[in-house]
Amino acid sequence: MNFYSTYIGLTPSVGHLPVRRWPATLLSLWAGVNCVSTDNPDASGEESDTERGQSGAGSCHGERRVEVYPGKEAVVAFDPELTFECVEGCTWCCHHGVMLYEQDLLELAGVAPLSEATTQFRGTDFVPKEEKDHDHTGPDGQACYFLQEDGLCALHDEHDWKPARCSVFPLSVAVEDGDIHVSVRDSAHEHCEGLNVTDRRVVDHLDAFLPELLWNLDDPETRREL
Ligand code: SF4
Ligand code: SF4
Repeated sequence: MNFYSTYIGLTPSVGHLPVRRWPATLLSLWAGVNCVSTDNPDASGEESDTERGQSGAGSCHGERRVEVYPGKEAVVAFDPELTFECVEGCTWCCHHGVMLYEQDLLELAGVAPLSEATTQFRGTDFVPKEEKDHDHTGPDGQACYFLQEDGLCALHDEHDWKPARCSVFPLSVAVEDGDIHVSVRDSAHEHCEGLNVTDRRVVDHLDAFLPELLWNLDDPETRREL
């Protein structure tokens, strides 16, 4: 079982911070039954970070507001019946670089050499992907700097921490009208093996995917890519 399974287990954590388990189902409030426009002309590549806003079943659905932390709501734009559990042996989401928020960079500085483990692109910091000599790589033979040959993340394995964006996968965050909107990534529908293979509804465990710091950022969107 890889780290994501640990992460969304019974005692999840966000970075170094303990997460309070809120009964999201009890806090969910229907915000309407408007179907989300799903087609995105930019959704072209394997690393696409665009949102389809629907579950793997591809059906039309409504949106709902969910209080993820006290006073912090997200607009959920995927089927509330969507379930997720990370699948052992799958490392697809670690075959790419990882965008770092400023707080990630500060925390990463305490556990890894930033000069080797990060790079900058258009003013944004990333953990780069690099060529690996193990099997947990993408078709280009590359994977995240921190992905070990056993398929585990070195950061989580050794420090019980990982960048915020790694927690968000297979979801995606966008800001619309000042609200955080949460969707399922197009690329996840195609590659993430953990969707709809368990009975753990994503909407009931949003705090395991959405670090609280997202509500404190000027730009919490996860579209930016290396
Ligand atoms: S930092 Fe860890 S969890 Fe994030 S992509 Fe890299 S190996 Fe995967
Ligand atoms: S792609 Fe999905 S199943 Fe695979 S490692 Fe990432 S979160 Fe887990």
